[in-house]
Amino acid sequence: MVEDESRLASALRRGLAAEGFAVDVADSGPAGLDAARHGGYDAMILDVMLPGLSGYEVVRRLRAEEHWLPVLMLSAKDGEYDQADGLDCGADDYLTKPFSYVVLLARLRALLRRGAPERPTVLVAGDLTLDPARRRVTRADAEVALTAREYALLDYLIRRAGQVVSKTELLDHVWDAGMETAPNAVEVYVGYLRRKIGRERLETVRGAGYRLAT
Ligand code: CA
Repeated sequence: MVEDESRLASALRRGLAAEGFAVDVADSGPAGLDAARHGGYDAMILDVMLPGLSGYEVVRRLRAEEHWLPVLMLSAKDGEYDQADGLDCGADDYLTKPFSYVVLLARLRALLRRGAPERPTVLVAGDLTLDPARRRVTRADAEVALTAREYALLDYLIRRAGQVVSKTELLDHVWDAGMETAPNAVEVYVGYLRRKIGRERLETVRGAGYRLAT
C-alpha cells in the first residue's frame, strides 16, 4: 500500500491484516515505486496524491518497465484527476475517496483473482513490430535484420512512437555515457534504420528531432 495519510494507512493495514493479508506500507511515490520493483507483491493499493511522485507516475513507470502487478488506485473525490487518467496510465481499478472498506476489499479480491496477466510485450507502430523478449523486428510480417545499435535505436523510438524524440535524448538513451560518439552518430544510424524500415516511417522534425510513425 502506498499512502501518505498515516491514519488511513494504518487503519487499512489493520483491516487488511485482519483479513489475512500481509501488507507493507510506503508513504511516498518513490518509496512505493522502489518497493513494487523489488518486493514481489501480489497487488498494490496506490494513492494518487503522494509526495515525490504521483500515483499516476508510479504506475506509468512500473508499466513502462513491464511490471504488471495489479494496481488499485485511490483518489480524493473531485480531485483534479479523474478515473480515466488512472486507468489510462495503467492502473487496473480505481476507487474514489472516501470509499467503503467493504468495497475496497471486494475490489482487491477481484484483482487478486485476476492476477497479473501476461500483457502483450510486443511493441507495435504501424506495420512495424519489435519483440523485446526475442529481440526480433518485423515489418509487414517480414523479419528485419538490425545491428545491435539499430535495434536499440528502434527500441527507443517505438516506445515513443508518434512523439518527437530529440537527438540529445537519443544520444543519452541509445549510446552509453562516456562512449566516443561522433557528432553525427544519430543522423548516421537514423539513416541506416530508415533503409531497413522504410524512409517514410521515420520522419525528421526540423529543429526538434525525429518521429516514428504510428
Ligand atoms: Ca495522499
